Amino acid sequence: MTQKNTVPQWVNDAIIYQIFPDRFANGDPSNDPIDVVPWGSRPTRTNFFGGDLKGIIDHVDYLKALGVNCLYLTPIFEAPSNHRYDTKDYFQVDRMLGTTDTLKALTQALHNREMRIILDGVFAHVSDEFPAFKDVLERGAASPYAQWFLIDSYPIRKHPKPSYRACGGLASMPRLNVANAEVHELLCKVGEYWIETADIDGWRLDMAWEVPHEAWSKFSARVRDVKADAFLLGEFWGDATPWLGRGKLDSSTNYLWRDAVFRFFVNQCTDAQTFVREIQALRELYGPHGPTMVNLLGSHDTPRLMTICRQNSAKAIQALAILLTDIGVPLIYYGDEVGLTGGNDPGCRKSMPWGSDTWNRKVYEASRVLINLRRRHPALRRGDLEVILAEGRILAFVRQYEGDTVLAAFNAGFQWEDFSIKLPETLNACGEVWRSSPEISLDEASGRGAEFRVKLPPQGVLIMASRWRGPCWKRV
Ligand code: CA
Repeated sequence: MTQKNTVPQWVNDAIIYQIFPDRFANGDPSNDPIDVVPWGSRPTRTNFFGGDLKGIIDHVDYLKALGVNCLYLTPIFEAPSNHRYDTKDYFQVDRMLGTTDTLKALTQALHNREMRIILDGVFAHVSDEFPAFKDVLERGAASPYAQWFLIDSYPIRKHPKPSYRACGGLASMPRLNVANAEVHELLCKVGEYWIETADIDGWRLDMAWEVPHEAWSKFSARVRDVKADAFLLGEFWGDATPWLGRGKLDSSTNYLWRDAVFRFFVNQCTDAQTFVREIQALRELYGPHGPTMVNLLGSHDTPRLMTICRQNSAKAIQALAILLTDIGVPLIYYGDEVGLTGGNDPGCRKSMPWGSDTWNRKVYEASRVLINLRRRHPALRRGDLEVILAEGRILAFVRQYEGDTVLAAFNAGFQWEDFSIKLPETLNACGEVWRSSPEISLDEASGRGAEFRVKLPPQGVLIMASRWRGPCWKRV
């Protein structure tokens, strides 16, 4: 039986922007903690910058102009840490970020602009300040919540080593017993509550592999009862196929795609033929889910794109270009669009620079153009993909959808490349052309349907698209 993709339709057109709320923008200094550090300070594992939901509301127009249309916020519920992956209360917005009303205002501001929002659901573990865990600490095996956790021995101790299972062995983050039916009920209630209360559009599910399929099935059914087109995106670092499908999760973070992209475009250790083979193997693996897998170049858990590219702007732009032209839903980690740098956590969690004089203008301009190109061209969001050239360091492909055509050509090498490509009949030479650098030449003398001669510098990207006629953004 052919498997069908049951993912909400809007996801095909999504361009996701990930925000780490403490670091995006501080819109309300009155909710800052006493020990807040100045914006732009060096991030540590424990410091707070004072970013909040009001700060995001203040920058919704920036995001709209950038062209993204779905925000993903890392956790916003009450928690002791700056990352908030250690939940204390799933039903309370952390007061340093705002209130339920601020979240409602943010959702409304986004929906007014035909943008959506998904929140981070962290169910594999909680904070040691989580009330049910505190009760177990107090009452031991007699606590009605004893079965919610994975206790190895009583009496419970935190030090020197926790006598219960904990995330990364950290006493402050006890693992939830996700096989327990009451815990399933908690997941479902949280999933429903924020859709009903704040009208969010779905969930990104942290460490989704830790939670049994049965729990995700219940969660999926309950959440879709309150919002039929809610998007459920699981965090996975490897093959996510067992978790995807009807009645399960919709999509997964596609770190495998990122690995292949970095091998070819950034580390330059594979050739174009190998890259195409690797990407095709991933598409075969994901089958009908391929077009809605969430491709990304980085997140709060990886070094930043610009740092991985050793601050080579052309490389970063080329990586952004493949992200925004390939099959799969692109996710942009806040700040990558302005060339923010940073190594692994906590380096990758710097505060967003809002003085545009500190931005990498080349990266920002390219990001804005590429994102908006994807928005204007259904071929890039819904089209198929045909590789027309994969030789050595050169890759070129064509995407088509209902008469809309886009061609993308890349030189991932160390020297200029001079090659010919035959344009598809549907690609008119008077359409749009984007060059990653002005020195890129395209001999367009011979006109429609003919051979074109392209000269691309190292890390050069050329994109040609049909003349755009349709609306900028059609809500499906
Ligand atoms: Ca604040």
